[in-house]
Amino acid sequence: MKTAICPGSFDPITLGHLNIIERASHIFDRVVVCVAANASKTSPMFTVEEKVEMVRIAVKDLPNVSVEVNTGLLAEFARRYEGSVLIKGLRAASDFDYEFQMDLINKRINPALETMFLTADQRYTFLSSSIVREMAHYGAELSGLVPEEIIGLIEGKANIKRR
Ligand code: ADP
Repeated sequence: MKTAICPGSFDPITLGHLNIIERASHIFDRVVVCVAANASKTSPMFTVEEKVEMVRIAVKDLPNVSVEVNTGLLAEFARRYEGSVLIKGLRAASDFDYEFQMDLINKRINPALETMFLTADQRYTFLSSSIVREMAHYGAELSGLVPEEIIGLIEGKANIKRR
C-alpha cells in the first residue's frame, strides 16, 4: 500500500492545504495528515487538539485520509509507514528553498524517505495559515480561505484571543 504523508502545522488548516491533501488522496492508496505538535513556530493560535479536530472535519469526506499527531522528527514518524512519501505543496520559489533544505535534512535521518511536490492550485497560491490567523484576528470574512465547516471554530477562538 502506497502511503502519502502530508505534514504541517495546520494552524489552522486552509483550503490550500485541503487541495493538496485531496489531490494526494487521488494518487496514493492512503494519505496520513501529520499534524506537528512541536512546531518551532512560536505562539500558535490553536492547540494541537483543536488543529486535529479541524483537520478531521475538513477531510471527513475523503475515505482514504486519516489524521495523526507527531511529537517528534518527521523523518522518524515516516518510518511507521513503510515506503511512504512526504507530499508538500509548493506556492512560490521561497517554499522551494525551504523544502529543498528540509528534504536534505530528512534524508540524513531517513535516507529512504522521498519528498514529492504538488504545485499549489492557482486559487490558493497566496493562502497561508498566517493570513487566515490575521484575517480572523480582524474579524474579516473567512469564506473561501478555509473549509466552511470550521469557520465558526476559528471565529470563536479569535474572539477569545481578542478579549
Ligand atoms: P503554512 O505554510 O500555511 O503555515 P504549514 O506549515 O502547515 O502551513 O504547511 C504545510 C504544507 O502545506 C507545506 O508543504 C506548505 O507548502 C503547504 N501549503 C501551505 N499552504 C498551501 C497552499 N495555499 N497551497 C499549497 N500548499 C500549501
